Amino acid sequence: MIEELLPGVFKLEVPLPHSPLKATNCYLVSDGERPLVIDTAFNRRECKEALVGMLAELGNSPDSVDYFITHLHADHLGLASSLARNGTTVYFNEPDMPLARPADSYWQEMGRVYESHGMLPRDLKVAMEKHPGRIYGPERDFPYTVVHDGDALRKGEYALRCVHTPGHTPGHMCLLLEGANVLFCGDHILGDITPNITMWLGMPDSLGRYLESLNATAQLNLVRALPGHRSMIDDCAARIEELKQHHAQRLEEVVAALKDGEKDAATVTPLIGWDLRYEHWDDVHPIQKLFATGEAIAHLQHLEACQIVSSRTDAGRVLYALSAS
Ligand SMILES: [Zn+2]
Repeated sequence: MIEELLPGVFKLEVPLPHSPLKATNCYLVSDGERPLVIDTAFNRRECKEALVGMLAELGNSPDSVDYFITHLHADHLGLASSLARNGTTVYFNEPDMPLARPADSYWQEMGRVYESHGMLPRDLKVAMEKHPGRIYGPERDFPYTVVHDGDALRKGEYALRCVHTPGHTPGHMCLLLEGANVLFCGDHILGDITPNITMWLGMPDSLGRYLESLNATAQLNLVRALPGHRSMIDDCAARIEELKQHHAQRLEEVVAALKDGEKDAATVTPLIGWDLRYEHWDDVHPIQKLFATGEAIAHLQHLEACQIVSSRTDAGRVLYALSAS
């Protein structure tokens, strides 16, 4: 489905089969020479056909446009390298680049890390094998063009500025339509669902960075944010405040879960309220358990950075407890 949001700025909604996210919102900024497509979708046939079809409706082929990818997740980056040909530029941020197409050893290491946080090996086996990032990621390595915070692009009548918003991923990069105060915000801010904030190797307090990014985004005085999924966000200040409140409440739930003693993250996870339908936590799909546990770890790490919680490792297991006050 194509929708013109501003003169020459189109939303291209690419369905994501079997995904609770339903669709990725890609965007096209018109340009006489090379239009810019912001984000792609999973590297799977149905997504490719849908996106290529919509580009054709707007008079473009996959290699007559350039691409800007907000972050490494496969539902944004997945198709970029297979669509890019013949000198196509794909703009991408530096911190996310090593994770664009990680080796098997990365998934094994992540499995070990989650096991140290208490997830069961049988759940991890399924989660690591069926992880969408592994199945629907880019089909090949690609010489991405690195963009940094503050970098400027010009497309058609629009001046665009890169805005680094770490948190959802280490290098998440939004794109601001200068003058219009409209932000292509990827998964930094979502309207109908809450962006997943998880733990990252080499990023000790991802939630802390995310909250800083939300505060910085509030300073942009946006009139509209165009997210990677679901509906457009018109009251950006209110949505940013809701997201901050959501994490504040989740932090309180994590603290409450530790009141009766030390626990690992996988034990804390089912004690937190999740937007998932289940009767028993054991029935939750291992992928959802992985995402939830990653969120729980990010919240525990933030509480530790704030010195509310402390951690220790015992026989390879990471245990969290409330700090003595
Ligand atoms: Zn994402």
